[in-house]
Amino acid sequence: MDSNLIIGIIAALAVIVGIGIYVSKNKGSKPPVTQRPVAQAIKYEAPTQVDAPAAMQPQVETDQLDKPESTGQRSTRLKDRFDKSQNSLSSSFKALFSASEVNDDSWTELEDQLILADVGASTSVEIVENLKKSARGKSGADLKEVVKAELNKLVDAGFNRELNLPTKSAGPAVLLTVGVNGTGKTTTTGKLARFLVAQNKKVLLGAADTFRAAAAEQLATWGSRVGVEVVRGPEGGDPASVAFDAVQTGTSEKVDVVLIDTAGRLHTKQGLMDELGKVHRVASKNTSIDEVLLVIDATIGQNGLTQAKVFAEVVPVTGIVLTKLDGTAKGGIVIAVQQALQVPVKLVGLGEGPDDLAKFDPAEFVNGLVG
Ligand code: GDP
Repeated sequence: MDSNLIIGIIAALAVIVGIGIYVSKNKGSKPPVTQRPVAQAIKYEAPTQVDAPAAMQPQVETDQLDKPESTGQRSTRLKDRFDKSQNSLSSSFKALFSASEVNDDSWTELEDQLILADVGASTSVEIVENLKKSARGKSGADLKEVVKAELNKLVDAGFNRELNLPTKSAGPAVLLTVGVNGTGKTTTTGKLARFLVAQNKKVLLGAADTFRAAAAEQLATWGSRVGVEVVRGPEGGDPASVAFDAVQTGTSEKVDVVLIDTAGRLHTKQGLMDELGKVHRVASKNTSIDEVLLVIDATIGQNGLTQAKVFAEVVPVTGIVLTKLDGTAKGGIVIAVQQALQVPVKLVGLGEGPDDLAKFDPAEFVNGLVG
């Protein structure tokens, strides 16, 4: 046979095989067609879309669902992660406790580390002044207990940190997550759904962040992994109507908790008021909103505090979720944000993993800081 003909046949075969591989690789990556004209729950019915990615399949067999980690397991794992991330402040405390003589330099160093950890300048000065008074005549080891007591007082501050998710005769408990885009709001809502599923609660999600293209898809993925329904609307649609529908669906389906993810476009305070204020108003038409969790990214320092104050003026924030504490040594923001808003930190995000959300425990937190 002519060698040009053989090369031609080989080239043609290579192209056919190449196309075959490309098609099979991309087969599962098309998003499912879940666009609906009005807000509507995704039911776990037989899938009509055969090429939806596995995590997005609305039909999930119970034995295929994720088993969220139990509270005990996750708190031990996440405590270690937090302790590691707060190394610099811990080292500063350790130096103080092991010093043969605690002098002005030791106190200045501690004050600097507290400020660096985002405790806030005036609170850091106050802490060090109080410690100086209580530390007189104390050994390094005794000093540790004094420091722990002082920090415990500030961090604990007597807040009730339980999520307020009451059993209501008229319908489910309703929780809104609010916060600026990028803080981890949707991720936290998804993690929270798992957290509640692990406590045998029947949960429904409302994807009211209709402005960020991927948010509803992201939430649908979180929901499908643990068998939780998601109510969503068209992209760019009215977030308040999605929130309303989520509450209605949750009521008719007799779920325990409806979690609503909201949009966090902080363009102007007026804009936020119009959008988020309306979501809150409309969602609470036929029920009460029991918990409004403000999600703050711990890595952004004082900006987080500014955001928190704006949101607190728009909606009645009842708890704070501090995310990304795994990626920063700035755990002191817990103290600063609680003082600024007079609202407790209820949950902390310590990673991107599905079960990297924990209840905030003040005593464990202080032990992690002080060692
Ligand atoms: P949203 O715009 O506020 O809804 O933010 P997303 O939920 O989309 O999260 C933004 C990014 O932050 C994503 O890459 C998340 O995986 C990440 N993220 C969320 N929470 C945490 C956390 O606790 N730790 C870390 N390291 N990353 C997080």
